[in-house]
Amino acid sequence: MGKVLSTLHAMVGERQRCMYCLDSHGSDIEHFRPKDVFHKHMYHWENLLLCCTHCGRLKGNKFPMAGRRVLLVDPTKENPWDSLDFDPSTGNICARFDVQLNNWSVKGEKTVEVLHLDKREALSKGYLQTLRRLSETIRSALAAGAIDSTNLAEKLKSEDDHGLLGWCFSDRGKTLEPFSELQAQHPGVWTLCARALKA
Ligand SMILES: [Zn+2]
Repeated sequence: MGKVLSTLHAMVGERQRCMYCLDSHGSDIEHFRPKDVFHKHMYHWENLLLCCTHCGRLKGNKFPMAGRRVLLVDPTKENPWDSLDFDPSTGNICARFDVQLNNWSVKGEKTVEVLHLDKREALSKGYLQTLRRLSETIRSALAAGAIDSTNLAEKLKSEDDHGLLGWCFSDRGKTLEPFSELQAQHPGVWTLCARALKA
């Protein structure tokens, strides 16, 4: 198991964060599809994640499904912001409201429920801290006037401990100051940053 853990550590890069909450240190090996239920997936690499003790305990053997549809965000394959939303006033993660379906994302709701993403104080604090840091960087870039989008995108990436930029540079983040300011005053820079952050 030591080899699996060190390989997973190498895969997630320097920060070695939990792949579910992106907040705590990833210390445990987690089977996305629970090993007691899905025996044949037990040793598939794509089924193995690195997670923190807290997320691992909450997740346990839970694996919500509707028919063949998995109702849990797979952090190795999906953009979590397709199903989840961020509340900048509390720092909580909640289900995303799907305008087309005119309803909350069921996958988002189940993921929040399983991992308690809307009721973990330390987690919310961490997300808010990252939001504050990213906001400050945008504000100083706005104050400086001329903005080099490549430099800005690199700086933002290095500060994004929680993978929040995907949200900040989406339609939802666009309505929040100072991201809204950046988009209004420098639409070209905003677009280049959004593109660079996806790469
Ligand atoms: Zn975690």
